[in-house]
Amino acid sequence: MSETIFTKIINREIPAEIIFENDQVLAFKDINPQAPVHFLVIPKKAIATINDIQAEDAEIVGQLYIAAAQIAKEQGFAENGYRAVMNCNMDGGQTVYHIHLHVLAGKPMGWPPYQDTLKQPLP
Ligand code: AMP
Repeated sequence: MSETIFTKIINREIPAEIIFENDQVLAFKDINPQAPVHFLVIPKKAIATINDIQAEDAEIVGQLYIAAAQIAKEQGFAENGYRAVMNCNMDGGQTVYHIHLHVLAGKPMGWPPYQDTLKQPLP
């Protein structure tokens, strides 16, 4: 797959507010937050979409959720709760084609999340 902006963040070629890192996963604040708390948890392995996740990636996908929960506990919003969501392709609202878990917190989340807008893919 082609390189995305998230590969550049992993490689420290562009800045990001990194809040967690281990050998498989990186988490950083979303540049355009949609809630009082909004960060992204990404695998260091570049996987374009949910559709591209292979059986061998099960461990790494699990690590995204484990990291999200650990950060939620550390930042003190685990008990109140949060939204952890991964968008897929155009109808899912995906703009960066390197899978990422959005973690949103700090206010009650609406449901359903549907908005009558389509976002455009980013490089
Ligand atoms: P999605 O639309 O689900 O693909 O989510 C992509 C997310 O990446 C959006 O919420 C963007 O605000 C966020 N984003 C894009 N570029 C950056 C960046 N350089 N640093 C942090 N977040 C970013």
